[in-house]
Amino acid sequence: EAHLVLRDVHRHYGEGDKLVRVLEAANLTVLSGELVALVAPSGAGKSTLLHLSGLLESPQSGEIEIIGTKTSKLGDRGRTQLRRSTVGYVYQFHHLLPEFTALENVSMPQLIAGKSQQEADIRSLELLEILGVAPRASHRPAELSGGEQQRIAIARAAANRPRVILADEPTGNLDPETSDLVFEALKTLIKEEGAAALIATHNHDLARRADRIVTLKGGLVVDHDL
Ligand code: ADP
Ligand code: ADP
Repeated sequence: EAHLVLRDVHRHYGEGDKLVRVLEAANLTVLSGELVALVAPSGAGKSTLLHLSGLLESPQSGEIEIIGTKTSKLGDRGRTQLRRSTVGYVYQFHHLLPEFTALENVSMPQLIAGKSQQEADIRSLELLEILGVAPRASHRPAELSGGEQQRIAIARAAANRPRVILADEPTGNLDPETSDLVFEALKTLIKEEGAAALIATHNHDLARRADRIVTLKGGLVVDHDL
């Protein structure tokens, strides 16, 4: 089942002598439970691809489909609504709220979405369990290691059961050993929850642990071997 589909997507910036063609007829499908690594040099268009996939930006032409919903004809409100209900985002830096515990950080987006405290906490604990950080539930971010913080941030991104998880250098801030641990935890989560994941990374060792590696070439998304 395809959760994220980009079809003939075209995205450029500027015009005239400032024209930058980033994507030209780019195609990409990410299936439920699939983790795709996006590896490309700086400036190649990784952020653009993630922004388009997360409906933060629109292509000039082409179609982006999330869980079967075509987004090209949606207005801003429709796109925002679809993004909020289907996309989770993991940042390079965790952006956890320092005054709240790990559990509270993961429960918060669920409370905002209208869940009861009890429902939210049950779901949060489930996620902390999957990611191997359940023993840290009542710790505040400052009391956690970098790898633990990032796993809590992944739990938060997954809190409302997004069908698509996007991440830009999710381990960019971590040492190699911790990066491996966090990436494996993310992979376990994707498999357990059947989400589709697109992960931009510079780390080739990590990319090799993904189900598939893609890169950007001549405005296209192409398969890549490392
Ligand atoms: P990456 O994430 O791989 O470093 P980006 O997607 O950020 O690449 O950028 C791809 C290209 O598009 C770069 O040449 C960048 O300068 C250009 N670009 C990105 N966003 C904009 C923008 N808002 N306006 C003009 N050019 C942009
Ligand atoms: P702000 O830039 O207003 O603080 P956010 O913290 O939500 O907004 O996002 C920061 C950056 O994270 C965005 O510019 C974008 O690069 C990325 N991002 C956040 N959410 C998404 C998403 N759903 N899809 C794609 N990229 C996202």
